[in-house]
Parts: sequence; structure tokens; C-alpha cells
Amino acid sequence: MQRRIGQSKKGRIGFLGKWLAAIALIAIVMTVSVIRHGLNQSQTIEKSEFAMDTLVSIRASGKGARQAVDQAFDEIRSVEFLLSSYVPSSDISRVNSEAGRGYVTVSSDTLWVLERARQFYWKTSGAFDVTVAPLVRLWGFDSGNYRVPTNEEIQDVLQLVGFDKVLIDEVQVAVRFEREGMSLDLGGVGKGYAVDRAYSLLEKQEVDSAFISAGTSSIRVLGAKPGGKPWRVGIGHPRSPGEYLGVISLRSGDALGTSGDYQQYFEKDGVVYSHIIDPHTGLQPRDLSAVTILARNALDADILSTAVFVLGSVKGMELVESLKGVEAVLFTANGDILVSSGMNGRFELQSGG
Ligand code: AMP
Ligand code: MG
Repeated sequence: MQRRIGQSKKGRIGFLGKWLAAIALIAIVMTVSVIRHGLNQSQTIEKSEFAMDTLVSIRASGKGARQAVDQAFDEIRSVEFLLSSYVPSSDISRVNSEAGRGYVTVSSDTLWVLERARQFYWKTSGAFDVTVAPLVRLWGFDSGNYRVPTNEEIQDVLQLVGFDKVLIDEVQVAVRFEREGMSLDLGGVGKGYAVDRAYSLLEKQEVDSAFISAGTSSIRVLGAKPGGKPWRVGIGHPRSPGEYLGVISLRSGDALGTSGDYQQYFEKDGVVYSHIIDPHTGLQPRDLSAVTILARNALDADILSTAVFVLGSVKGMELVESLKGVEAVLFTANGDILVSSGMNGRFELQSGG
């Protein structure tokens, strides 16, 4: 059984850390380092910016790397302006304030993401549900004013949750809610979508190799590492910061999504409450501590890591095994590491991990 290490302290650091990171990042935003400049004009560019509520980093090599990386960040910014509920004019903010009263027109990109979210809502039996926003708010995860709600409050708010109560008009490219008070939270899918948009942009440019990451929770690679070796990514140990559970080898186009109870949480009376909520119960799922999904794109990996966290080890692993091109590494609340069948040869367990 793994010990839970200093959670209350980590919780405070997590929240404070976000702000410190934001401040520190203002200083390093737009820091571009040209690492190598060969005779054939191939160059490696690395750039990090604070976006989508996390540190987004892109490292790319190739003739067109500099321009491509700048354009990839423009893509990420444009996704943020569509999907972030912290941007008042974003599609999602407008939907949240008006869709309880009538249809709200959105961009075709936003509609596409909502349709993918809807498909996964059905595929995961409602475990992944972007209408979870009123519950996220009830627990204080939108503001940092955390509190444990009463059972009665949870039951009331559950009436406002369920993607089956979202109406999508594909012809008018518009969205409405069946009930006033409903709202959307794309925190479980936005980073993956942004990483995919950056990936598609880089893929079309003169870039031979790239590593895109949104924090540690969403990653996608293009080509092989400069030098030709495959990308190898360490999966962080959810209970021992700085240690790894193991290492996953990635092929060109592969994506990783990670969800965990250590990423955002608070502690009350010795109980830890994390930011991922079961949309059926309004409570935190407690079977798993961390989920890493390997998929063929970052959107699927992001959605499925959140969904499998909610579903738990048995149903979560069943879902993973049923999906082509999807693999998983699960870390249970008891400290067991579970690996899906197709991870053989891809995942190397770290000794003592
Ligand atoms: P991730 O880090 O990708 O697992 O996403 C977690 C975020 O997704 C949370 O901070 C919430 O904003 C949102 N969320 C929480 N529970 C769910 C859920 N069951 N389905 C979809 N999104 C969720
Ligand atoms: Mg996710």
C-alpha cells in the first residue's frame, strides 16, 4: 500500500503554485531558444507559454521549425479563446450564460469538440460528461473556494447535469440546454484538443520532429527524436513527486493523457477531495489515483483519462481493452499498477515504481 504523502501541504502548494507559475511565466513567455542551427538550416526551436491554464511547451526540429512553432501557439491561443470558461467572450462562456434560454450560435470548431464530447459521453456511459460544471462549482473547484457540499445540495445540482439534456443544432451550428442553470466545463478535453490542433499545424510544415506538451497531462509527438531514437516519456509517480512509475515509448502521432487525484484537490477533516467528479453521484471516484492513456490523438487520450478515472479499474480497463489503438497504465488507490494488454513492449516499469 502506497503512503499518501503530505496531501494538505501539496494541496496548498498546488493552488499557490498555479499563481506562482503564472507570474513566473509572464517572465518567460515567448522565450524562444534556438538550440541547433545546422548547415542545412534545420533548427530546433523550444518555446513555452502559459495557456489553457497550464504551461504549454513545444520543441520542434526542421527547416520551418521557427515559423511553425509560432503558428502552433497561435492555434492554441485560438482554442483557448473558444473553449475557456475564464474568457468571458468565448463560445463556452456565451453558451453557459445564454443556452438555458435559447440556442446559442458557436464556431464549427467548438461544435466539433462538443460532438466528440457527446460521443464519449455515450461510449463511457456518462462517466465523461462536460455538463459536470455545476458540480465542479458546487465543490469550489472553479474558484478555489473549496467546500464539501451536503447530500441535499448534490442531489439538487445533479438535476442540472447530463449531456442528454444538451441540444445541438448541426445546421444552425448552435447549442442549447434543456434546463436553465446547466453549464459546460471543457477542462477534461480542452488541453487535448489544443495539443491536436498544434500537432496538425506542425505536421503540415517543414518540421521533422516535435514534442508538444500541455503540462504533464497532455502530450503528443511527431516523428522520432532528433537523432532517430523513439520518444520515451516518463509517467510520474502520483504519490512520490520526482519519481516515475515507468516509461512509455511513443511512435509518431501517439498521444498521452494523464488524469490524477494529485493534480488538483483539497483536504477536509483528513479526507482528500479531487477535481474529477462522477457525474452520476456528484462525488469523487476513489478507486484510482492516476490514469495514463495512450491513444492515436490527444483529444481521445485526454477524454479517456478523465473517463477511466471515473469508471475505476475494472470498468475503465474493460473500456480501454474494447477500443482500438488505446492503451492504459492505471495506478490504484491501493498502490497497484495495472497495464492494458497492448502495453507489452511499450511500457517499462521503473524498478521500485
Ligand atoms: P483532466 O485533468 O483531463 O482529467 O480533467 C479534469 C477536469 O475536467 C476537472 O478539473 C473538471 O474541470 C472537468 N471534469 C471533472 N469531472 C469530469 C467528468 N466526469 N467528465 C468531464 N469533465 C470532468
Ligand atoms: Mg482529461
